[in-house]
Amino acid sequence: MNRRREYSIPFVGLKPGVHEYNYSIDDKFFDDFQSQDFKNCKANVKLLLDKKSTFMTLKFEIGGSLEVNCDRCNSQLPLELWDEFNITVKLAEDAELMNEQEEDPDMYYIPQGESHLEIANWIYEFINLSIPMHKVCTYENMNGPHCNKSAKEMLKKMSTEEKEIKKENPIWKGLEKFKDLD
Ligand SMILES: [Zn+2]
Repeated sequence: MNRRREYSIPFVGLKPGVHEYNYSIDDKFFDDFQSQDFKNCKANVKLLLDKKSTFMTLKFEIGGSLEVNCDRCNSQLPLELWDEFNITVKLAEDAELMNEQEEDPDMYYIPQGESHLEIANWIYEFINLSIPMHKVCTYENMNGPHCNKSAKEMLKKMSTEEKEIKKENPIWKGLEKFKDLD
């Protein structure tokens, strides 16, 4: 559990209305979590906390960049992060049970009497969710400095071989016999 002070918001003392928080997240932030499959994270997280009388809404805006390994050629691939996530937080007597039973993933309960909101785990989760499932450079980008040239050569070779197979297709060979018939 990451309970560093800067990621702990004392919401009880907040006035009703919108409050803004900004966080700069780098690789150090992830030391407290399991190992990551990205590096050089330079993320900005803007949190807009709207305090209402009986609940709070949290809007996380994730921006910035990080580097992943391309799934196809395994070279370093820079990614832009841009995503936003909304959470509604309510106080509940049996928060733990409520969280277990809640089907809406954007709904979260904290125990009544709680005074601080721990947001590090959300930041961790949302940065990870901002990364696409399939991390590959596009074919066009394979010319760029971030992609492995040999992978591109291999793809090129494969498509040439495919064309050659079509050329040698026996159906066409068979038809060629009729060419000299007239
Ligand atoms: Zn690649």
